[in-house]
Amino acid sequence: MLAMHELAICQALLDQVTEVARERCANRVVSVGLRIGPLAGVEPALLEQAFTVATARTLVEGAQLVIEQTAVRIECIPCGTQAEVRSNALICPSCGSWQIRVLEGEELLLMRVELC
Ligand SMILES: [Zn+2]
Repeated sequence: MLAMHELAICQALLDQVTEVARERCANRVVSVGLRIGPLAGVEPALLEQAFTVATARTLVEGAQLVIEQTAVRIECIPCGTQAEVRSNALICPSCGSWQIRVLEGEELLLMRVELC
């Protein structure tokens, strides 16, 4: 059973990658680099599965999906501390406040596309 969320992400990703490949007149896409934050709500294993399905019979078929997972970085609003925290403990490590702003960790970015 495929995860619909991951499949939808892959379809959007496929559009982006296809556009890049067409612009550069590439014959094939070798690899696709993604950066995923722990708070992006994406399961990398499911995303890889979905990627294989979404790219079948396209220009991107057979491309390697390279996933770089990032950490969660927060900034504390009351004390201004910036720190890396676990995604299940979103509180300030200095003062314990929960009034924080997430600086990094929610992103899902297409970092690079390798063509040939
Ligand atoms: Zn604080």
